Amino acid sequence: MDEHALECVRKAGSIAGEARELGISMVDEGVKLVDVANEIEALIIKKGAIPAFPTNICINQIAAHFTPNNNDTGVFHVGDVVKVDCGAHVDGYIGDTAKTVEVRTKNWQGLIEASSRALRMAIDMIGDGTPVGTIGATVKGSIVESGYRPVSNLNGHEVKRYNLHAGLSIPNIDDGSKDRIRSDMTIAIEPFATNGHGHVGNSKPGNIYRFIRDRPVRDERAAKLFENIKTEFKSLPFCERWCDQFDPQANHQLKVLLRHGVISSYSILTEIEDAVVSQTEHTVIVLNGRSEITTKP
Ligand code: MN
Ligand code: MN
Repeated sequence: MDEHALECVRKAGSIAGEARELGISMVDEGVKLVDVANEIEALIIKKGAIPAFPTNICINQIAAHFTPNNNDTGVFHVGDVVKVDCGAHVDGYIGDTAKTVEVRTKNWQGLIEASSRALRMAIDMIGDGTPVGTIGATVKGSIVESGYRPVSNLNGHEVKRYNLHAGLSIPNIDDGSKDRIRSDMTIAIEPFATNGHGHVGNSKPGNIYRFIRDRPVRDERAAKLFENIKTEFKSLPFCERWCDQFDPQANHQLKVLLRHGVISSYSILTEIEDAVVSQTEHTVIVLNGRSEITTKP
C-alpha cells in the first residue's frame, strides 16, 4: 500500500469510527432515526471525509439496508436493538463500521456481545494467507458458543478504492472458500448474530441505491438527477435523502431511473423468522502480514 493510500484509509477509518460512536451515543427513546443519520454524515464531512454510503440504521429483525428518508418520522423505542452502520471515504479510500445498542433495556446484551466477540476473534486471526473460510468458521464457532446463530447469508467484504464491496467475501460461516487474505488488502469484517434461524431474506425494496450503467435517460428531469448522481456518488451507494438537494421530487425521479435500469436499489434485509439481529463491524488493513483496525475513533 503506498503512503497516500495508507494515509487516506487510516483517516477515513478513524473518522468513520468517530461517527459511529456519535451515532451510537445519540440513540435513545424518542430520538428520530433521520436525525442520527444526518448527524453522523455531517460529522464525517466536518472532519474532512465524505460519507461512503448512506448511514444504515436497522432495528430488531432488520439486519441491513435501511436508511431513513428526510420525511421519515420514525423514532427509537424502549427495547429496540439498533444497528448503526456508517462509512467514510477520503479520496475513495473507505472505512466501514457498525455497532449495536439496545434502547434503555438489557435484554439482548448477550446477542450484542456475540457479534462483537466474533469480530474480535476474526480480527485476531487475520494474517497474510488466512483462508476466508477459516475466518467464517471462527465467526460461526464464536457466535454458537455464545448461544446464538450467525446470519449465514450476510458477509464481510474486501474494500477497494471507490468500491465498497470488492473482491473477496468474508463469510460468517465456513463456506469452504479457499480464498486467502493477503497483505495490503483492506477488509471489512461484520459478524451478524441472531436468536432466529440465521438467514435474511429480501423484505421490500429499499431506498438505498447504486449506479449500474450509463445510458441516455429520455426524461429530462430524471436525466438531470442522474448526472448529479454520477458526479457526486460515483460507484458508491446513495439514498433518496441525499438526492433531495438536487431535486425536491427525487423520490419520483429515482423511480424513473430504476425503471430505466441505470440504477438499482438494495432490498431491505430482514431475518426470515423476524428474530433479533446484532451486528459489529470494523475495517481492517493487512500490513506486512499483520492486521490493523482502521475504524477505531
Ligand atoms: Mn457496514
Ligand atoms: Mn460492510
